[in-house]
Amino acid sequence: MMTTRIALFGGTFDPIHLGHTTVAEAAARQIDARKVIFVPAKISPLKGFFPFASDKDRLRMIELAIAGNDLFAVSDCELKRPAPSYTLDTVRQFQRDGEPETSLHWLIGADGIGDLVHWHQIQELIDECHLTTMRRPGYPAPDVDRFEPVWGPQRVAKLKHDMIETPLVDISSTEVRKRLAAGKDVTGMLHPDVIEYIREHGLYRGVRP
Ligand code: ATP
Repeated sequence: MMTTRIALFGGTFDPIHLGHTTVAEAAARQIDARKVIFVPAKISPLKGFFPFASDKDRLRMIELAIAGNDLFAVSDCELKRPAPSYTLDTVRQFQRDGEPETSLHWLIGADGIGDLVHWHQIQELIDECHLTTMRRPGYPAPDVDRFEPVWGPQRVAKLKHDMIETPLVDISSTEVRKRLAAGKDVTGMLHPDVIEYIREHGLYRGVRP
């Protein structure tokens, strides 16, 4: 039976920007994934703050940003679970509910590598999916050798094997929120329909980024 590859892309997406969609598309090409499923997080336990837009608004903005792209889908499974919601639970849910020969890749940008040691049951997560790391401007290339004493050589080898090269897109949600709060233009950073949604709903006005 053929293995189907599915990429899961978790994040706060507050808001989703063109960096997210650009690297997601490139990642899908590299790993030959049939779908990239965006999985907005309820609250990231490591970020230590609540998102600035509601769950409903973040979900809606993702729907607008991916509309018409058959490669992309969105899942609200983490929004429905009581917080804190862990990546491992999400991966297990997709594994349980998906087709038997499904190989799951969890996408993560280079800025998140340092935090991996704090992730809930990280070793099980590395074992149960392909934790796929991507480059990000302003951050060094993912270095996982330093984790070898804790996770062991096999897990580190798996992480290295799963590293991919994606385009460097210098956009972050923090920068987008800062610009919106200052009334600056965000054309070219967000999908036009997301910009329209933010304007219509008065999101990110005067918030501390
Ligand atoms: P914030 O600025 O609020 O921290 P963010 O831009 O990092 O937000 P998140 O929703 O936190 O966006 O990111 C979700 C995932 O996407 C993370 O794994 C992050 O590393 C990755 N990511 C976000 N922006 C980029 C980018 N420009 N290039 C590569 N990966 C990215």
